[in-house]
Amino acid sequence: MTSAQYSNNLDAFWMPFTANRQFKQNPRMLVAAKDMHYTSADGRQILDGTAGLWCVNAGHGRPKIIEAVSKQVAELDYAPAFQMGHPKAFELAARLAAMMPSPLDHVFFTNSGSESVDTALKIALAYHRAKGNGTKYRLLGRERGYHGVGFGGISVGGISGNRKTFGTMLTGVDHIRHTHDLSHNAFTRGQPEYGVEFADDLEKVIALHDASNIAALIVEPVACSTGVLVPPKGYLKRLREICDKHDILLIFDEVITGFGRLGTPFAVDYFDVIPDLVTTAKGLTSGVVPMGAVFASSKIYEAFMNAPENTIELFHGYTYSAHPVACAAALATLDVYEEEGLLTRVSEIAQYWEDGLHSLKGLPHVIDIRNLGLIGAIELEPIPGAPTKRAFQAFLKAYESNLMVRTTGDIIALSPPLIIEKSHIDQIFDTLSGVLKQID
Ligand code: PMP
Repeated sequence: MTSAQYSNNLDAFWMPFTANRQFKQNPRMLVAAKDMHYTSADGRQILDGTAGLWCVNAGHGRPKIIEAVSKQVAELDYAPAFQMGHPKAFELAARLAAMMPSPLDHVFFTNSGSESVDTALKIALAYHRAKGNGTKYRLLGRERGYHGVGFGGISVGGISGNRKTFGTMLTGVDHIRHTHDLSHNAFTRGQPEYGVEFADDLEKVIALHDASNIAALIVEPVACSTGVLVPPKGYLKRLREICDKHDILLIFDEVITGFGRLGTPFAVDYFDVIPDLVTTAKGLTSGVVPMGAVFASSKIYEAFMNAPENTIELFHGYTYSAHPVACAAALATLDVYEEEGLLTRVSEIAQYWEDGLHSLKGLPHVIDIRNLGLIGAIELEPIPGAPTKRAFQAFLKAYESNLMVRTTGDIIALSPPLIIEKSHIDQIFDTLSGVLKQID
């Protein structure tokens, strides 16, 4: 068989998070990408309204990253991740630690957001043991939280679809409520005024289980994958205070918000709240090579380093942790971010973005619009009895109109590359305005 014959066979590839049968009847194939655009197999330039899957923060096909990856493959293609090191891993960790506020000074490498989440949860559990608090084994998450697809992530995650067919998952997990409240906060620009009280749910759950049994709470600072749920003002600070009071670790899942999405390097900076662990991935390499990283506070790291000499302090790691090619991609990505000021660039265009997005208010079916940094969401009234159908129609029509968006439920989500120009922003909202007028 020739490679063309193989690639025309759509049957073998079981696609992730995709309606396979529907896709294979009408495949949407991408064959190239540069800067803000994909090229489709039928030769169209598709404006990337989602930075791939919220990851291509530096835009596509950046020469500096391509060059660094090519050079690294030729120089040191792989080095064992356990009991061996290579300089770029240490350089990258030190550089990342310098970007994060203290005391988040230590970095553990993974290959994806899901792995970062599982790593952070495991570190949290092992930390309390190391401190002699082995009864602190419960993990808390939040409704409508998305923390990837490992068993840890789906257990603390709060999406029924991700949980219902996979058995019992982790035991000892509980959830606090999400903060989405259309009755008070519809069409809010930026952070809602209403809803700091949602944080008090945490006190209720702690009262139920007792703090002596709870290891950690994980939240996305902005819950993106379930439709851009922007935290109310003061909410994250209150979670931090409650966690402190009860010796519960706070984990921020910054797989999406990390690396400039909010106009600051991390959401930690944007909200001025410092958690104990931070999970990242995606923008770390601008999506070029899979990689994730977990930041741990020195309090956590030191607790492990008190173990007896010559013992492995944390029994955890991946064959590809700190893979040399991923490290090279990440270092070059950080160079691009730094040289072009991309990690703070969003603060300059956020107002233009917000104004463009909210200009869609009043169009058919639109029941909410929300935004923070370079993230946006348009929530549509579901078709009765056919949830998700309306937004999926919008996704298809947008794609036909050369714009890539994401949909989750009946929500259209946007998160373009951070190199976006005003003309692209205009194109996104002009296209969406046309799309929203066309759908049933
Ligand atoms: N956490 C969050 C907050 C995410 O948004 C995602 C991916 N969208 C993940 C974890 C999982 O990342 P990955 O798909 O790389 O495993």
